[in-house]
Amino acid sequence: MTQADHKLSTHLIHHPYKPPTDFEGPQPAVHKASTVYFENVQAMRERRWLDKSSYTYGLHGTPTTYALEERLASLEGGLQCLLVPSGLAAIATVSLALLRTGDEVLVPDNAYGPNKTLTEGELAHFGIRHQYYDPMSVEDLAAKITPATKLVWLEAPGSVTMEFPNLVEQVRLCRARGVTMVLDNTWGAGLAFRPFDLLGDGSLGVDVTAHALTKYPSGGGDVLMGSIITRNQPLHMRIKLAHMRLGLGVSGNDAEAVLRSLPSIGLRYHAQDRSARQLAQWLATQSAVAQVLHPAMPDAPGHACWKQLCAQGQGQDGVAAGLFSVVIDERFDQAAVDRFCDNLRLFKLGYSWGGPVSLVVPYELPEMRSRATPHIKAGTVVRFAIGLEDTADLQADLAQALLKAFG
Ligand SMILES: *Cc1c(COP(=O)(O)O)cnc(C)c1O
Repeated sequence: MTQADHKLSTHLIHHPYKPPTDFEGPQPAVHKASTVYFENVQAMRERRWLDKSSYTYGLHGTPTTYALEERLASLEGGLQCLLVPSGLAAIATVSLALLRTGDEVLVPDNAYGPNKTLTEGELAHFGIRHQYYDPMSVEDLAAKITPATKLVWLEAPGSVTMEFPNLVEQVRLCRARGVTMVLDNTWGAGLAFRPFDLLGDGSLGVDVTAHALTKYPSGGGDVLMGSIITRNQPLHMRIKLAHMRLGLGVSGNDAEAVLRSLPSIGLRYHAQDRSARQLAQWLATQSAVAQVLHPAMPDAPGHACWKQLCAQGQGQDGVAAGLFSVVIDERFDQAAVDRFCDNLRLFKLGYSWGGPVSLVVPYELPEMRSRATPHIKAGTVVRFAIGLEDTADLQADLAQALLKAFG
């Protein structure tokens, strides 16, 4: 049959024109697919989805997702990368892949909240036990590791309260005890420190990173995605098999959005860091603020550990994300703190961070922690994520809201 024999609908679907394949521009192409064609039955039978040598099905990768995976692995200093639909999906996939009934997982008490919720929910339902350890005590972590411990979660700094742990000693301990460790690397984002090479000499690193690409790699506040990065092929394969069986994938358009933002991640990260530090230092001078929780501030919990990791070979000032919290003095009640948040104009009330818009969230700390937090002053914790607005405008916004709420 020739083309002329086909009806229009068939012709439009099986159109013979193929553009030349050697197109190149600044951005990788957006490939979208569930179905991927095979040349013949033999090629279909020989399909290989375990590596990036070919294509088999949309869930197992397209040129767009392969390109993003390789760039993210480079960003964090890893060798293999898996993409998942959110940062939380990255956390869940790692725990589900590496834990089974009877195992125990150790989670820092200041971990990203939904990691703890998953641990107390699905993981507990599957007979996987957990303990929360003190992120600021390597001795406490050491005491909690038992033969049943099959995974240790690490986070630097911790969520909301921003304590920077002694990551080097935590990793050394897990390595010595032969326990697999996974770092939630969303804050560091591959820019503040090298998770797979903490000492800069190739001798010490985590086994796995989970990263909420939703934050800095997306940079837009408009994409949800996560990555799981490793440097060890057998470990990667264990997680990849679970990833495949769970049916996880990301859309080509979302992958393209992250690819488009990646070239500016360093510029954005450092700009938001500068702005956040200026605002954190200014807030420390305000009478309503009892404490500023930013790891680069000299009196912040874990400051020395932050400095050891994030200021080595990165200049005097070191590197941090544009994220910090303050404790509003206990003489002000919750209603006053709510009034402060409600009166902010440029800062929007909302979760997440790493986008262009500055965000604020009040937290109820006692509900979030299973251990006492003596290093956090009494009062209400408010977290700020600094966007890309002008710093002076953000400071003026904070000043007017402080005045309205606290006088
Ligand atoms: C936001 C965040 C996540 C989860 O990312 P989502 O894409 O929102 O699911 C995980 N860990 C940390 C530290 C985060 O800040």
